[in-house]
Parts: sequence; C-alpha cells; structure tokens
Amino acid sequence: MKRIIIIGGGVAGITAAIKAKNANNEVTVLEKNKTCLKKLLITGNGHCNYFNDDYNYKHYYSNNLELVSKIITSESKKLLTDFYQSIGLVPRIKNGYYYPYSNQAYAVLNALIKEADIKGVKIINEVDVTNIKIADKFIVETNKENYIADKVIVATGSKAYPKTGSTGDGYRFAKILNHTVNNVYPALVQVVTDDKYLHELDGVRNDTKVTLLVDSKSIKEEVGELQFTNYGLSGICIYNLTLAINKYLEEGKEVKIKLNLLHGLNINNESDLDNYLSKQNKLLNKRTLVELLEEILNYKIVNALFKKYKINNDIIYDEISSDSKLELLNALVNYEVKVVGTKDFNNAQVCSGGLLLTELNTDTFESKLVKGLYFVGELIDITGECGGYNISFAVLSGLKAGINVGGIND
Ligand SMILES: Cc1cc2nc3c(=O)[nH]c(=O)nc-3n(C[C@H](O)[C@H](O)[C@H](O)COP(=O)(O)OP(=O)(O)OC[C@H]3O[C@@H](n4cnc5c(N)ncnc54)[C@H](O)[C@@H]3O)c2cc1C
Repeated sequence: MKRIIIIGGGVAGITAAIKAKNANNEVTVLEKNKTCLKKLLITGNGHCNYFNDDYNYKHYYSNNLELVSKIITSESKKLLTDFYQSIGLVPRIKNGYYYPYSNQAYAVLNALIKEADIKGVKIINEVDVTNIKIADKFIVETNKENYIADKVIVATGSKAYPKTGSTGDGYRFAKILNHTVNNVYPALVQVVTDDKYLHELDGVRNDTKVTLLVDSKSIKEEVGELQFTNYGLSGICIYNLTLAINKYLEEGKEVKIKLNLLHGLNINNESDLDNYLSKQNKLLNKRTLVELLEEILNYKIVNALFKKYKINNDIIYDEISSDSKLELLNALVNYEVKVVGTKDFNNAQVCSGGLLLTELNTDTFESKLVKGLYFVGELIDITGECGGYNISFAVLSGLKAGINVGGIND
C-alpha cells in the first residue's frame, strides 16, 4: 500500500487526489484552511469560469512557451472535458466560456469534493505544511504531526489573493528541494498609470481596444470594457495585458497602453474619426463638437480631453484649429498612457512566473530532480489569460500527476 500526500486542497490538489486514489494506495490531502477550494468559490465572480472551448496555448504566458505548446493540446482538451463530464459537471457555455449550468462556483466545488469522497480520498483540513524532507521516504512536516509518504504532490498555488490560503509556500518547498523558481509577479491585475486626466474618470467604463506597447513595440491587443479608476485602468481587457507587464518594468522597459476609445464604432484611426465627425457636423447643424462627441462617449471623457488640450467647450467642428484637431483625434483613437506598475498580490487573480517547466516531466508533472515528487497548478511557470485558462491548467496538471501517481487511468 503506497502512501500519497497531496499538499494543498485547491482545484489542482483535489483533482490530483481523485485520479491518484485506487485500491492500492492511501491518498491524503493536507489543506491549511478550514475547508478546501476556498479560491475556487470566488472565481468568475462566484460563477467559476472553469474552461474555454478555444483551448490554445496562445492564451498562456510562460518563460518557456514552447513547452506550453506541448502541454495545451487537443489530447489535453479531451482529457479535461472527459473529466468534467465524469464528475457530473453540466456546462453553461457562453461564447465558448464554460460555467457550471447552475451558474454557481459551489457546483464545481461540490462535484470535486463528492468525487474525492466517493473515491475514498482522505482530506485533513487545518493542517499547515511547514517543510518537506527526503529520507528513505518523504517526511511532510506540519504545524501538527509529521506525515511519511512514498510520493508527494505539491499543489499549494501561487501567492495571489493570499487571503484564500495561497501564500507562496510551494515556492519555498520547491527551492528547499533544489528546484528553480523564477521571479513571480502579480498578473491578471489592475494597472497603475501616472495620467491625472484619466484618473479623474474614476468609475467610467468604455468599450475600448487596448494595445500593450513595450519600448514602443506593439505586443498584444485586446478588446473589451475598459474601466477607468482613480489610480489607472482595470477590466478584463486590461488584465489580459498584465501577464508580463511587471517583468518588462523590472527590465527597465518603457510600458504604455494605447487606447482606441471608439473601436466599437469601427473607427480605427484619426482619418476615420475625422470623416465621422465631419459627416455628423454637416448632418446635424448647430451642434457643438462636445455635443457630437457626447453622443458616442461618456461626457466625462469628453470633458477630460477638452481640459487636457485646452479646447473651448463651445467650439464647432469646422472651427477647431488644426493643432487641436490633431491632438483630439489622436487622443480619441490612439491615446497612449504610461504604465508605472500594477496593483499587488492581494489584488491579483494569479501570479506569472514560478517553478521552471524545464525541471518537470511535462507529461506527468513529476520532478526531474526528485523521484516521486510532483508539482501541479498555479505555482508552475504557466499562466493563462482570463477565460477559464488558469483553472483548466490547474485541473490538467492535477489529472496528469494523479494518473501517474496512481498508476491507473480509470
Ligand atoms: C478573484 C479571482 C478570480 C478568478 N477567476 C478565475 C476564473 O474565473 N477562471 C479561471 O480559470 N481562473 C480564475 N482564477 C484563478 C484560479 O482560481 C487559480 O489559478 C486556481 O485556483 C489555481 O489552483 P491551484 O489549485 O493551483 O491553487 P489554489 O486554488 O490557490 O489552491 C492552493 C491550496 O493550497 C493550500 N495551501 C497553500 N499552502 C499550504 C500549506 N503550506 N499547507 C497546506 N495547504 C496549503 C491553500 O490554502 C489552497 O487551498 C481566479 C482567481 C482569483 C483570485
């Protein structure tokens, strides 16, 4: 009878436990919280977006994207969808985004915990693992007793949203066991900017195309609802630009985000906007430029830009000076805002960076350095965009490690 210890009862740990358990072994999950899956419950605003039909490695960031392309494959997609079905999850699919049909994250939690229970997984809550030692077997030290194990799966998550229990312990365990952890940064997080005109737009939302510029080079583009805040920018489109922002800033690169505030109207550049405004101006006489713009933009945005470029609020489009016109058109479709940082780990949905993928067998997530030791979930250097990509990677790595540890794929 093999003894398998899984450290961390998040989505990766519970999935690994379900797959690892069989008649020939004893599988125990050690979780420091009072209950497992605390983070899962707050995902997708309590709805839990656990998968995405557009399952492609291009939605991930890692320092080794080539390895990621070998992990996120059509076989992995099938492994995931089969697993979700096998534990009774009924999806509600919106534009390819999978949620539980009941729309409640609890449904995912219940499905996982019930399956673990049926399989005979032992879950011990309120046990804080403090160290892992290697002798003949593994010795897992905790704030209570020590556990001896033949195999250990570390599933402690990252250090994003630490109030859910993910406090970065796995990075420490990995280092103790001779693994390399590259820099870990907050990701899928709000961006801090130094633009006082935009800070005044706190609370305003606008359908926007946002482009990440690093040293003036366009790196990534997203379209979605941009949220202005009194410190910078937020919204899913912004989150998706943050997978590597902190790394670029640390490397001393200039990071900017370019905004096209009129993308939704199919206005893609200054000339499109000039045509639009000239046409509207002719069509609707006796309207000021402010009045024309307020039909398509929140008045606060219009006010802020008129203030910034010192344009008279009563002006009509024909009368605006060519310099002011250039500035205004450019600001509405190509506004560049300098990024000075992001919010911290307390606000971040995930961490980018982590345990080096090259030190793991990426078919099984077993360590290449220590036999019988596995790492799964968010603590590994692979981070997804918003859209179910992080939970699905946690589940995938849990499945692969669990299957390998258990030695049976049932
Ligand atoms: C607000 C928010 C919204 C999100 N929404 C989505 C979403 O909709 N879709 C999506 O795909 N992803 C989402 N994510 C990301 C996703 O939740 C995580 O990527 C995923 O939960 C990672 O799973 P994990 O099992 O690796 O780690 P975790 O879920 O963090 O689980 C790790 C567990 O290990 C325990 N632990 C840690 N250290 C120890 C220790 N020393 N001893 C014992 N136990 C320990 C922790 O208490 C925790 O329960 C969201 C994250 C946040 C914060």
